[in-house]
Amino acid sequence: MVYHPNPGRYETMRWRRCGRSGLQLPLVSLGLWHNFGENSQPENCRRLLRRAFDLGITHFDLANNYGPPPGSAETQFGALLRSDFAALRDELVISTKAGYTMWPGPYGDWGSRKYLISSLNQSLKRMGLDYVDIFYHHRPDPNTPLEETMGALDSIVRQGKALYVGISNYPAELARNASQILRKMGTPCLIHQPRYSMFERTPEQGLLDVLGEEGVGCIAFSPLAGGLLTDRYLNGIPADSRIASASRFLTPDNLTPEKLAIIGQLNDLALRRGQKLAQMALAWVLRNENVTSVLIGASKTSQLDDAAGIMNNLIFSEEEKAEIETILGG
Ligand code: NDP
Repeated sequence: MVYHPNPGRYETMRWRRCGRSGLQLPLVSLGLWHNFGENSQPENCRRLLRRAFDLGITHFDLANNYGPPPGSAETQFGALLRSDFAALRDELVISTKAGYTMWPGPYGDWGSRKYLISSLNQSLKRMGLDYVDIFYHHRPDPNTPLEETMGALDSIVRQGKALYVGISNYPAELARNASQILRKMGTPCLIHQPRYSMFERTPEQGLLDVLGEEGVGCIAFSPLAGGLLTDRYLNGIPADSRIASASRFLTPDNLTPEKLAIIGQLNDLALRRGQKLAQMALAWVLRNENVTSVLIGASKTSQLDDAAGIMNNLIFSEEEKAEIETILGG
């Protein structure tokens, strides 16, 4: 069926400016790391992208290696772009990345100019795009000079293959250095993509301050800790959940009795706030104005509806913040 996007899609979503740039991002962005690989149902992928866009989620995040197998999320996304979103390209912010292992040999990994430029060329082909909006270096490379990696990002923008560039998984001081090198080259660093959630608070130890000082935006990945910070696992492990899918990244070991007790207490507080736990967890990450957007994953359209529902309550009282600290600390 032909896709007619919801005409009201810009009415409820809210936007934040990405650092000191001209680009605004929706408070909620959708990542295609899971649920868009070769074994995913194309019809579910289509439903997810359409529902996201209908809710004002205009930003889709990919990487060369998303699948499985690596590359297949970009291929699947490219097909849906052509069939459903061809006329909507200018309403979308599409990002991809390179930095993890993509192909064999020394040129398919890490952070050399050789790898980054050829990987982006491959990504563009898979998605059928002339350019992406944001291209990221996916993880720091301890063996390549930072100048070379940042120089590759600068070249990519000058070649018109990306409008903006970003970095991901860089610790605070390396992020500052990267941002300063890029600024000198005339291609400011748009955004940083760190893991940040109630269960992973490392960015609070300096990174968020550095990004504020440097005028770099921040998009927090895995803000639901892969689904732990939701009501999904409160009564066992559902058959259709990430843990049940034998994911390498989320295993039953992550669900200790202590963690479940914390999740239960957070869930009670969320219900008192009139929210689901997933919604409170996303709103909590966004309480810091240096966070531009939360980057969620979704296996069902109802999860996108939940995420968009955070616009109804983004505010935390001092008592609620303190209660969350007590729960997380305990
Ligand atoms: P989340 O922490 O948002 O976890 C998403 C999962 O949580 C969903 O797949 C779903 O799992 C569950 N979930 C989501 N909403 C709800 C809800 N309302 N109620 C119950 N369960 C819910 O993020 P991800 O770990 O998926 O990462 C998001 C994106 O971040 C990735 O797609 C990718 O773009 C990016 N990322 C970047 C990395 C980097 O190194 N730069 C690394 C990892 C991710 P279920 O399948 O059980 O339904």
